[in-house]
Amino acid sequence: MDLHNVIAYDIARDRSELMLDAGDAPVGGGTWLFSEPQPHLRRLVDLSGLRWPPITLHSDTLEVAATCTVEQLAALSGNHEWQAAPLFRQCAEALLASWKIWKRATVGGNICLSFPAGAMISLASALDATAEIWTIDGGERHVPVADFVRGVGSNVLTPGEILRSIRIPTQTLNSRTAFRKIALSPLGRSGSVVIGRRDDDGRVTISITAATVRPFLLRFADIPSAQELSHNLSRLILAEDFHTDAHGAADWRRAVTAVLAEEVRTELSAEEVLP
Ligand SMILES: Cc1cc2nc3c(=O)[nH]c(=O)nc-3n(C[C@H](O)[C@H](O)[C@H](O)COP(=O)(O)OP(=O)(O)OC[C@H]3O[C@@H](n4cnc5c(N)ncnc54)[C@H](O)[C@@H]3O)c2cc1C
Repeated sequence: MDLHNVIAYDIARDRSELMLDAGDAPVGGGTWLFSEPQPHLRRLVDLSGLRWPPITLHSDTLEVAATCTVEQLAALSGNHEWQAAPLFRQCAEALLASWKIWKRATVGGNICLSFPAGAMISLASALDATAEIWTIDGGERHVPVADFVRGVGSNVLTPGEILRSIRIPTQTLNSRTAFRKIALSPLGRSGSVVIGRRDDDGRVTISITAATVRPFLLRFADIPSAQELSHNLSRLILAEDFHTDAHGAADWRRAVTAVLAEEVRTELSAEEVLP
């Protein structure tokens, strides 16, 4: 939609052009920014001109630029050297948007929007990714993505800060993963996304997103029993941590999350089948 109150659209070419005043906002893919009125905005600053490489493999981390599109991220599932590779496409598909959105929507835009159904948040939390944030004094700070989101539509960014990238430890890419998602309708927005990860040393992480107002990570030294998992779920995630909107009521989300978490636990408990 046209944003009639926006009077300037600038394309940033380097960091010095990322000075944002009140009434300015960065544009990732713009799929959300242009989907509804933004009466508080006067200027948009497009990040695409920064030409950040979408994906960079370092010795210990996989760096995904904030401007990497959902489509580019989903393509990482083609890397058969990583056990966790299927997760990229599974999370991309959890967005349930058309290919037009996949080509434009960015990983950074999805995370900064900080909706519970932010599937890039699900992915990054489950793989213990860290967000690199560019601060307004020209520095940077790092926050686990699971702690980046503070509530529905809110996060740790202060005015003028930019999400530069997320970094996924390469170690977690070699973990076994199990993915479950549920929505109220076949093409509905996620009501709950539960992802399990079993690392080489046997440790298990279960991430809960979409059902809750922010990501929750449950950690175990080994595969938990069904009772241990259920106990930890109800001890660490309180009834008020589940949220209600058009895509599902809190009590439904709480109930289905318990079912999905048990399915994930069972899948990760099964003997690994070698190809
Ligand atoms: C059909 C359809 C289905 C959708 N389904 C979902 C869904 O299931 N789940 C969901 O969460 N969303 C969904 N969305 C909303 C949105 O399209 C996605 O969240 C998308 O990933 C947002 O990315 P973007 O790059 O287009 O963000 P933009 O619209 O460009 O930006 C979103 C917000 O983040 C800020 N921002 C962007 N990049 C940065 C950055 N690097 N640093 C700081 N701030 C930044 C912007 O200023 C803006 O406030 C859907 C949208 C459509 C049209």
